[in-house]
Amino acid sequence: MSIPARIKQDLPFLTSLRRDLHAHPELGFEEERTSGIVAKLLEEAGIAVHRGLGGTGVVGTLKVGNGSRTIGLRADMDALAMPEVADRPYKSTVPGKMHACGHDGHTAMLIGAARHLAATRGFSGTVHFIFQPAEEGRGGARRMVEDGLFELFRCDAVYGLHNMPGLAVDELAVVEGPQLASSDSWRLTFRGTGTHGAKPHLGRDPITAAGTFLSSLQTIVGRVVDPLQPAVVSACSLRAGDPKALNVIPDVVEIGGTARAYSPDVRDQLEGEIGRLAKGTAAMFGIEAQYEFERRIPPVVNDSGSTGRALAAATAVFGERVRTSFPPSTAGDDFAFLAQKAPGCYVWLGNGPAVDGALHHNTAYDFNDEALGYGAAYWVALVERELVPEA
Ligand SMILES: [Zn+2]
Ligand SMILES: [Zn+2]
Repeated sequence: MSIPARIKQDLPFLTSLRRDLHAHPELGFEEERTSGIVAKLLEEAGIAVHRGLGGTGVVGTLKVGNGSRTIGLRADMDALAMPEVADRPYKSTVPGKMHACGHDGHTAMLIGAARHLAATRGFSGTVHFIFQPAEEGRGGARRMVEDGLFELFRCDAVYGLHNMPGLAVDELAVVEGPQLASSDSWRLTFRGTGTHGAKPHLGRDPITAAGTFLSSLQTIVGRVVDPLQPAVVSACSLRAGDPKALNVIPDVVEIGGTARAYSPDVRDQLEGEIGRLAKGTAAMFGIEAQYEFERRIPPVVNDSGSTGRALAAATAVFGERVRTSFPPSTAGDDFAFLAQKAPGCYVWLGNGPAVDGALHHNTAYDFNDEALGYGAAYWVALVERELVPEA
């Protein structure tokens, strides 16, 4: 187990930084205060800073020696629109906003690594410290990519990290392959011909069609997708008719839901199959179906080369406490947009036991400061091992 002494000495600072960010949460694309603090700390460490990429995003660039390899390390900065219920000295000062996903910790750990690397300069090459806005569903990573992240800051590999309650703070899970699911939305409108509820033969009933569609929906996962490939299709919204007009068959039924997968092929399959079922059901009932599949976030799938390098760095810090097997999450992370542009690896850093059962997105969740040194040490080890000075 090795956390560099300089990082240990920096822990009181990093802890107070983390708690200050926790007390002042900002939602996606509103991280003015947070990104201001990040940019100032990077500049004070002697790191070149680019502000305002993807709205409130910040990229710090540290080039040492003449190594040509370049890597990107990502931390997300945003909080969630929910109230903090638990009482703590650094409780959120903003009603209805809180750091319930530990992004305050992610930001502090990457700052810790940047300060250490800028002072010790024990590598040869370029590191881009990518501080991303709006990870929680508002599309910050995509905005940074669209704003030219990879044109301005070439990356031969990109790395992400998320805290994980349930793993001890001295544990890190580094696993090749799928880590987080794709997160897509689908919408469907069945359009029939409305009529009197007593005279269904004079219209075309979209409600009965919707019933048939919904009762067949799970056959996509059960009968079409490879049983060895995880997939979720859920209908989460259904709208039709009016409870005050129970003698009216409406013209239109609207259905919507989510689709999740871990492989691009299954993702394509879900898009195609939900549409096929919708069109087929509509044909069966002589009505029309309008179908839309919105691709929101691709799956995060760890590249084998990057994962091998992450594992070597993790082993240097965590020794036998590195886990190489850990179940993927059905949640999504828009780090996927970065990992589409450069080979990447996303790891899970232990955050200790779930205090009072509070997990991510719980009104009592709090990043565990005991993890700060481990996370910063992992970033440092990754840079020093991936950007090795030539002998
Ligand atoms: Zn979250
Ligand atoms: Zn998160």
